[in-house]
Amino acid sequence: MTDKILVTGGAGYIGSHIVIELSAAGYAPLIVDDFSNSSPSVVPRLSEITGHDVPCVTGDIRDRRLLAGTLSEHAVAAVVHCAGLKAVGESESRPLAYYDSNIGGTIALAEAMADAGVKTIVFSSSATVYGQAGSNPIAEDAPLMPESVYGRTKLMIEQLLRDLARSDPAWRVALLRYFNPAGAHASGRIGEAPSATPNNLMPILAQVGAGKLPEIAVFGSDWPTPDGTGVRDYIHVVDLAEAHVAALAHLQRAAGVTTLNLGTSRGYSVLEAIAAFERACSKPITRRMAPRRAGDVAICVADASAARVTLGWVARRGLDAMCADAWRWQLHRDA
Ligand code: NAD
Ligand code: UDP
Repeated sequence: MTDKILVTGGAGYIGSHIVIELSAAGYAPLIVDDFSNSSPSVVPRLSEITGHDVPCVTGDIRDRRLLAGTLSEHAVAAVVHCAGLKAVGESESRPLAYYDSNIGGTIALAEAMADAGVKTIVFSSSATVYGQAGSNPIAEDAPLMPESVYGRTKLMIEQLLRDLARSDPAWRVALLRYFNPAGAHASGRIGEAPSATPNNLMPILAQVGAGKLPEIAVFGSDWPTPDGTGVRDYIHVVDLAEAHVAALAHLQRAAGVTTLNLGTSRGYSVLEAIAAFERACSKPITRRMAPRRAGDVAICVADASAARVTLGWVARRGLDAMCADAWRWQLHRDA
């Protein structure tokens, strides 16, 4: 029988791409999403792309009855847990909302899973758990010192899931630390659709390219990097989604907790990213040098070798593909 996989936050940017790759791998994904940061219009698009009906339960993961009903009614085999709040700046001004949604949501989900006997979970963690890393590339055993409320919720959820697995060896947990997800599905039908003005580099570049924003402010030109601008490990969202499929397969073989970085092990500067986006959209991107952004680091690049060894997975798509796909999505969503 086809395994049913519940994707919390499956209508969001990353979750929607995971739904597609799960379906392509022969799983039957279903979604729980409250659409607080996504649109219901994503769901029919997912059915269209996958060629299968993608069931979607509208609601909040903190609603225990809703989760219990969903897990039992659909005979879910495992959960990919993407739902949560993710804006670093907002987490500093609304800490309780972040603790409630991210940690409260995970506790409610884990309780419902335990009650239903569903004990396999893949969790969307983040490289932000490392904070100001002492050295790059960053391996999974680097010190964990998140600098924001958002990052601390991610680390606390990792700890919570570790404790759960220690208390009951039936749990199988993958903690996947994403570096900088970028790009969109090659169909141009789904992608990142921030409801507010974006804060991240790639969606801002797409909006500057489309003339919706006048310019990109480059946050710092005096970082200790080759061109003075910040260096990040951008990973194509489809590569990221494929890693979740590989992680689920791994959890069928491995009990306990598996913690992995998901990145390309290759860093690009802000200026290199702007140049790549200019190639993708065939337009000049207006930029303005600006002061450093509070909380930023000079370089954040994954050592992704553990994911390669453990999952047999490597990121295959480069920065030009990320920019081309992000640009295609920008044009389609405006059409
Ligand atoms: P997103 O906001 O596009 O997706 C999250 C989805 O969860 C949205 O559809 C939202 O409506 C839903 N949601 C939020 N709270 C919910 C709740 N309480 N109940 C039900 N649904 C809820 O974000 P994304 O970029 O797709 O990120 C997915 C996950 O990956 C998040 O946990 C995020 O912290 C993590 N992550 C993202 C990035 C990134 O750069 N995008 C990097 C590292 C980690
Ligand atoms: N950045 C920038 N201008 C912007 C947004 C981001 O120069 O308007 C830089 C940021 O300083 C960092 C890189 O782009 O060096 C990636 O930032 P993003 O917010 O996308 O991801 P982060 O690494 O902070 O999670």
